[in-house]
Amino acid sequence: MQFHVGVIAGDGIGPEIVEEAKKVLDAVGKAYGHEFSYEPILMGGCSIDATGVPLTDEAIQQAKGSDAVLMGSIGGDTRTSPWYKLEPSLRPEAGLLKLRKSLNLFANLRPAYLFDELRKACPLKEEVIGKGFDLAIMRELTGGLYFGKRETKKVDGVLQATDTLTYNENEIRRIAKKAFSIAMQRRKKVTSVDKANVLDSSRLWRKVVEEVAKDYPEVTLDHMLVDNCAMQLVKDPGQFDVILTENMFGDILSDEASMVSGSIGMLSSASFNDTDFGLYEPSHGSAPDIAGQDIANPIATILSAAMMLRFSFKLDKEADAVENAVKTVLKKGYRTVDILPQEKEEIAGFTQVSCSRMGSLIADAVKASA
Ligand code: NAD
Repeated sequence: MQFHVGVIAGDGIGPEIVEEAKKVLDAVGKAYGHEFSYEPILMGGCSIDATGVPLTDEAIQQAKGSDAVLMGSIGGDTRTSPWYKLEPSLRPEAGLLKLRKSLNLFANLRPAYLFDELRKACPLKEEVIGKGFDLAIMRELTGGLYFGKRETKKVDGVLQATDTLTYNENEIRRIAKKAFSIAMQRRKKVTSVDKANVLDSSRLWRKVVEEVAKDYPEVTLDHMLVDNCAMQLVKDPGQFDVILTENMFGDILSDEASMVSGSIGMLSSASFNDTDFGLYEPSHGSAPDIAGQDIANPIATILSAAMMLRFSFKLDKEADAVENAVKTVLKKGYRTVDILPQEKEEIAGFTQVSCSRMGSLIADAVKASA
């Protein structure tokens, strides 16, 4: 089959890690008889330098014309880069917000799991991680507190700031459906996280999620208050399959979950609209501190490409092949520097590799799997 992939390499390590993901996709193409064509799309700081804005209308049209978009990361050093002297609407991240809005990407899926090979990097105690964990957070991305009406004004001579949190039932229903359908492809459990003991928006959230659950009788639904969920993620992460939650709760919980898994360079993410289209990107940023040195870990981006194969292109076997190739290479002891054990006595048996070598090793493992 043929697939047209829009590629936003972005800034910092973005171009390096995206190159390795393309290498792995090409290996999938060769091994399983598919053809991937790539169309570069400018976004972020590189777009500001070239066009004066972080995302042009032409770039949006290019993204809309793709079967899916693979992204590296955007942005620079926020303390020193001239991009951050511009007004907020012209800075690199404004490009990403505009793209999400233009493509109606309302659902963000972030898996967080423990790679057995990287157990030592997990900050939790061995008795807590037990058999490991494999969860995914489905976060609503275009509603709630971040998009509500806000204002700061003086009331009786005192400054007062207000933000509003609004969800309508349609917004809740569409994200709930996404969460349940992802759960059907996993271990068939959804934990819906809210603050229904306090917030009206959460009470509506709970009611609508329960209605949607009726269409997915095979999926078990639990409700959990957000404060409890924050505790449970560090107490017993293995209990979760799919966590479904609103925008701000999801923002905070997904960062907590990625810290728990212990390795920022390993975690993928995807954003969806109502179709099979998706924007796939690593959970980490553009790491300007290590850009251009060929030392970044490309695995999060490669695993994001695996998500693209699975969710946008419906190529499950090929997605499995990429995920297994990553495990094979880690099992053989290959590590980029960020996941190399730090203690001298633990380093035996590991080989430090560059970003490009890691990509080649994973691509070779994909080819060997077919
Ligand atoms: P960051 O994730 O870029 O880096 C944090 C730390 O992790 C750094 O020490 C970095 O070297 C390391 N790191 C990150 N990814 C790595 C990888 N693949 N391999 C090895 N080490 C890695 O976060 P930050 O420093 O807070 O942000 C840098 C820039 O990235 C900022 O401009 C920020 O706005 C942007 N950012 C972009 C996105 C996005 O494009 N979606 C997301 C987060 C941050």
